[in-house]
Amino acid sequence: MQVADTTAKPNPDITIVRFAPSPNGLLHLGHARSALLNWRFAKRSGARFLLRIEDIDTTRARPEFEQAIFEDLSWLGLDWPEPVRRQSDHFDDYRAALVELRKLGLLYPAFMSRAEVTSHVRVYEQNGRVWPRDPDGAPHYPAVDQGLAEAERNRRIDAGDPHSWRLDMQAALDGLTSQEGETVSLTWQEDGQGPDGETGKVVADPGVWGDVVLARRDVPASYHLAVTVDDALQAITTVIRGQDLFASTSVHRLLQSLLGLPAPIYRHHSLVRDGSGRKLSKSHGDIALAELRAKGLSPADVSAMAGLDALE
Ligand code: GLU
Repeated sequence: MQVADTTAKPNPDITIVRFAPSPNGLLHLGHARSALLNWRFAKRSGARFLLRIEDIDTTRARPEFEQAIFEDLSWLGLDWPEPVRRQSDHFDDYRAALVELRKLGLLYPAFMSRAEVTSHVRVYEQNGRVWPRDPDGAPHYPAVDQGLAEAERNRRIDAGDPHSWRLDMQAALDGLTSQEGETVSLTWQEDGQGPDGETGKVVADPGVWGDVVLARRDVPASYHLAVTVDDALQAITTVIRGQDLFASTSVHRLLQSLLGLPAPIYRHHSLVRDGSGRKLSKSHGDIALAELRAKGLSPADVSAMAGLDALE
């Protein structure tokens, strides 16, 4: 098999797409839809199709799930250049991005546990006030650690206090102001569709996420950071993924802007819905491909169940 140069510089002449599953469980129909849409786009447009293993969640990622990803995708008829990029092999790349963001003064250590955040929010909401939440429904991180003095931060880090690293969202947004003092709006090219039909030039709205985690307590990366760095390092030109990640694109665009990385075109696709009238016990999109294979379904059957018709 061909060897992938996973750190290639972006070449505008080559279209490169990727399917980037996390080996935290078995692939299901929703993954099949995303993988097949990437694959078909690549075949149709002469693009390169890459597979990337997003395994920064080292507590949940398991080698047998990674193996199952390779098997399921091969069974579906897909192939990809080897070696695949496995995120857990590249923590240094994410560390380098974190150093850049720290130099810009945009990162701070966040010491509050999830339980502490929850109780902080509960106290605030007792008076009928509403605490802001991100598009996934999680409360914004309170502006408590952000204001800690440098000496106190260092003392707690030296004392081994568990902490993640968060982006100071307001400072990052303020930095988008042009020299003339005008706010520069971040946009992306959406060739697919957002959940509310957004398409074409979409204005990013990263502020809705609050101070996102860029390095988790256990690993020097987060989904947002790793996906942004990797899409750039692998010179991905077109990101094809589910609409559930549409809102995250605002964070990715902000990070691209802060880190001076190129912005791919995005094609968000609709998710698998149970519109076929089949009686299935689990939610349609959640059915493991392995289960369907074991039942004797063919790749063409799975493709149809994933909402791709034969002519697509
Ligand atoms: N690893 C992510 C997932 O499995 C997908 C990331 C992406 O496509 O941007 O949901």
